[in-house]
Amino acid sequence: MRLGIMGGTFDPIHNGHLFVAEEARALFGLERILFITNGSPPHKRAYSSTPAGNRYAMTLIATHNNPSFTCSPMELNRPGVSYTVDTLTQLRQEHPDAELFYITGIDAVADILSWNRHDEVIRLATFIAATRPGFDLAGLKDRLPVAYLERILVISSTSLGISSTDIRSRVSRRLPIRYLTPDGVVDYIYKRKLYMDDQERRQAAEGK
Ligand code: ATP
Ligand code: MG
Repeated sequence: MRLGIMGGTFDPIHNGHLFVAEEARALFGLERILFITNGSPPHKRAYSSTPAGNRYAMTLIATHNNPSFTCSPMELNRPGVSYTVDTLTQLRQEHPDAELFYITGIDAVADILSWNRHDEVIRLATFIAATRPGFDLAGLKDRLPVAYLERILVISSTSLGISSTDIRSRVSRRLPIRYLTPDGVVDYIYKRKLYMDDQERRQAAEGK
């Protein structure tokens, strides 16, 4: 089986993630895409992310109507910082016959040399990297060794300028987010008062 893996903080998941996963599925004949919500991502400790349970719930809501998409809580159940190398090693053991494809944006794979045990990561999966407005494909070629570039397939068709950072910022500024992420995710964000602002966010988390 050709198994796609899309890892992310998903704070929140949005149509950029969903489109890239669907495009990778179609272009590279992947049978299934597994969305893996990061537990505690090593590179994102600068801001405190939304509780993992909320991020995972939004990932379930966003993916439920695509029969090729499934979600895994495997990183949420693992204590400590989540490293991609551990996730891929675990998937390799769980699916010994599968060929693994790790789907990312160009921005993420451009940083791969800073990942824990990146030499193992690049051997465990073939990468599929999607272009993102503001991130340069040529820059990738300058940054990574040829042996790594050979393991990266590129999707450079339609690229969407949607980011979770922008969605969080739009919610706090009371700007619309409909059509940037599925309706169910929009409803979830408003219902749980996610991203409104720090104070409202704390109170909602405390159940006030
Ligand atoms: P944030 O702004 O909080 O960093 P994000 O939108 O980058 O959020 P992540 O959860 O960090 O989303 O990303 C998970 C993966 O999805 C990464 O590999 C990232 O490069 C990729 N990705 C996110 N948005 C897009 C997009 N619009 N186009 C292509 N890839 C994307
Ligand atoms: Mg990001």
